[in-house]
Amino acid sequence: MKIYSNFDLTNYNSYKIKASCKTAFFPENEEDVINFYKTKKPFTLLGSGHNIILSKEFYDTTFIIFNGNFNAINISSETGDIQAEAGITMLEISEIAQTNSLSGVEIFYDIPSSLGGAVVMNAGASGEEIKDVLVKVRYLDLIDMNVKEIHKEDMDFEYRNSFFQRNTDKVVLKVWLHLEKGSKEGIKNKMERIKEQRWAKQPKDFPNAGSVFKRPKGYYVGAIIDELNLKGYTVGGAKISEKHGGFIINFNNASGNDILQIIRDVKSKVMDYFGVDLEVEQRII
Ligand SMILES: Cc1cc2nc3c(=O)[nH]c(=O)nc-3n(C[C@H](O)[C@H](O)[C@H](O)COP(=O)(O)OP(=O)(O)OC[C@H]3O[C@@H](n4cnc5c(N)ncnc54)[C@H](O)[C@@H]3O)c2cc1C
Repeated sequence: MKIYSNFDLTNYNSYKIKASCKTAFFPENEEDVINFYKTKKPFTLLGSGHNIILSKEFYDTTFIIFNGNFNAINISSETGDIQAEAGITMLEISEIAQTNSLSGVEIFYDIPSSLGGAVVMNAGASGEEIKDVLVKVRYLDLIDMNVKEIHKEDMDFEYRNSFFQRNTDKVVLKVWLHLEKGSKEGIKNKMERIKEQRWAKQPKDFPNAGSVFKRPKGYYVGAIIDELNLKGYTVGGAKISEKHGGFIINFNNASGNDILQIIRDVKSKVMDYFGVDLEVEQRII
């Protein structure tokens, strides 16, 4: 395990908002995680930080970070079963799956995420979601400090929502996935094709955290923003991307509050014009 004091969080949130915390803790295994939570210290849990907005410049808490650490993986190319710890990145899982001729996680080649974060957010794209390949999850229940398991069928997944998003007192420790056999080349082609299509549409030149809002029923956020002429709308160092209206980018040293002000302004304009209450996908910390 690694522990740091006065830790700079700039490289641990994909908006690259400048912020720091009193302590940062990077566990290496399940025992480290459980021992940390036994101390009952105030904490903030981060996966790889690709779906968060840091609203403060300083956090007087411990950040427990699963970002490529806490990442053991077991894979069977025979059965298609994968068991992995929550901190492994989805990029790594997609690459390992491809090497083992296993199909089902190609979209995650370009969705920056830890495995735990993907389960919490029910991450996905193009009609595919992590829940499609999920079998079960092992988690630490902070209410009674017991380690428990839950099967996919009992997790009430919804679009970008899950049991774990609704129950923030549970920590995803380990995840079981099941993938199907495929051809190495076909899997690689799908990964590259999806990546190319996404890079053509998304603002990859500036720090961002993906789609800001969930897709409201019957609408597309990008089209709503276009219709309201909000592309390029700026507060401080943050603005709505000119390339894709569903993204906010940090183009010039933005603070979390610059981003949150844009969100408030967009929500109010969209409510006035369309009568639609946009729901924020990103987690505000
Ligand atoms: C360029 C870009 C493109 C993106 N495209 C997509 C996309 O196409 N589809 C999509 O769904 N998302 C997309 N996103 C958003 C992001 O990739 C996903 O939401 C991702 O799953 C977040 O995972 P994370 O590990 O970074 O979670 P974090 O941002 O670190 O955390 C998100 C939430 O999960 C909680 N959490 C994290 N790990 C655990 C755990 N082990 N146990 C309990 N709670 C935990 C955190 O406390 C926080 O509340 C994109 C982001 C970027 C930057």
